Amino acid sequence: MRTIEHFIGGGSVGGGTRRHKIWNPSTGETQAEVLLGTKAELDAAVAKAKSAQPAWAATNPQKRARVLFDYKRIVEGRMDELAELLSSEHGKVIADARGDVQRGLDVIEFACGIPHVLKGDYTQGAGPGIDVYSMRQPLGIGAGITPFNFPAMIPMWMFGVSIAVGNAMIIKPSERDPSVPMKLAELMLEAGAPEGILQVVNGDKEMVDAILDHPDISGVSFVGSSDIAHYVYRRGTENGKRVQAMGGAKNHGIVMPDADLDQVVNDLAGAAFGSAGERCMALPVAVPVGEKTANELREAMIPAIEKLRVGVSTDPDADYGPVVTPEHRERVKDWIGKGVEEGAELVVDGREFSLQGHEDGFFIGPSLFDRVTPDMSSYKEEIFGPVLQLVRAESFEEALSLPTTHQYGNGVAIFTRNGHAAREFAQRVDVGMVGINVPIPVPVAYHSFGGWKRSAFGDHGQHGMEGVRFWTKLKTVTQRWPDGGADGGNAFVIPTMG
Ligand code: NAD
Repeated sequence: MRTIEHFIGGGSVGGGTRRHKIWNPSTGETQAEVLLGTKAELDAAVAKAKSAQPAWAATNPQKRARVLFDYKRIVEGRMDELAELLSSEHGKVIADARGDVQRGLDVIEFACGIPHVLKGDYTQGAGPGIDVYSMRQPLGIGAGITPFNFPAMIPMWMFGVSIAVGNAMIIKPSERDPSVPMKLAELMLEAGAPEGILQVVNGDKEMVDAILDHPDISGVSFVGSSDIAHYVYRRGTENGKRVQAMGGAKNHGIVMPDADLDQVVNDLAGAAFGSAGERCMALPVAVPVGEKTANELREAMIPAIEKLRVGVSTDPDADYGPVVTPEHRERVKDWIGKGVEEGAELVVDGREFSLQGHEDGFFIGPSLFDRVTPDMSSYKEEIFGPVLQLVRAESFEEALSLPTTHQYGNGVAIFTRNGHAAREFAQRVDVGMVGINVPIPVPVAYHSFGGWKRSAFGDHGQHGMEGVRFWTKLKTVTQRWPDGGADGGNAFVIPTMG
């Protein structure tokens, strides 16, 4: 049985006696075990980071960027291998796994421009003989705690920017699919980053707590489910750290009567069922406006869903693969059962789906609910599986109020040909990322990713300028070069530059 260790300093090292099983979700077999580390492994990684980070921060930004340019080229060259590895532990299909790596590489590409981004502000003559300038300095040692569903993209969101600005980074990946983050750390050495600048410690809550309590870690970025995000935010900030903690989601797609129905059906099928619904930017709730739109959408969704091909993650024709673990499959099935109990109409039931020849894989067929209502717990909570819920609304205002009053506020989309309605919606909806005829509005790498309400705790978004702000401290210098002799000003009054 293959054992996945930790990546500390320049290579893979052991540590920790507890182990966690790594499945191959397509076959239902155990393919490896990951070591669950302890404070001792974290201390070792922090010690390496501490000795490497000052010289890395002092390296000029252009040279740090050159490492990232090389990293981008190396990861691109290993794309097939990384996508296969990712897909074998996560279960998403290969094309989707490549997308996972590519969206991370987009952030590396953004980070290659770090010399420009770190230039700072300067005001000449802010007062008589006074100039003011600001600089952004690295936090020191940062940590990233990541979820299972994007094992390449999300670590790269964090370390791409953090390393570029001069920090050392320690990633604690999901214990369900840690192999790709391990590989990404190894490739960073190949690209020329010094040992200790990107490391991986594996583990579960014990390791997360050790990170949150470690006095030498200054910034923590977390992505995962909301209760844990909130816990990480509370414990980390209580210890004086800077913390950004992204949580769960329940994204709505509003379908206006004038929307292009063919486009909507196609977009909803991909956004609700792609990656087996295991995306924080999936679109698991559709809100048709008006009875006619609802009936037409429902009728058109049924054949589109029946056409979906569920297959092993290496099947090039599969639309989506298995979910990540048998426990997660049971959880999704339980939510479907709960929806039925609560009175929603189960139009397509994917619970009994089994893939011939792969009966032990963690597959679930696509499910469609109609007449879901806002009081149902299956609407309020995140299911994170291949389940689409239709919530019928009578008006634009009612449709707008659904995502606005929902506990989560990650992403939302509106499908319409009416520019006024779209503009009004984007202005008023209480959600962080909005798509207009775009079902999965994940911002490009040079903009920033971040939800609202229980979808994110803390201030800054991921990557783009928000990422730069999160991973740096602002220092502002007010300087005056006296021409000799004291000017006799009153030092007890706040300076006013007058
Ligand atoms: P998760 O919350 O179970 O795990 C996330 C991380 O927290 C993992 O590294 C895990 O080891 C750690 N962890 C788990 N239990 C813990 C505990 N009790 N104490 C401390 N740490 C703990 O999330 P997941 O199942 O891996 O990922 C799916 C969730 O992540 C979904 O809710 C999804 O919406 C969310 N997500 C959000 C975003 C976003 O940007 N908002 C992006 C991707 C995924």
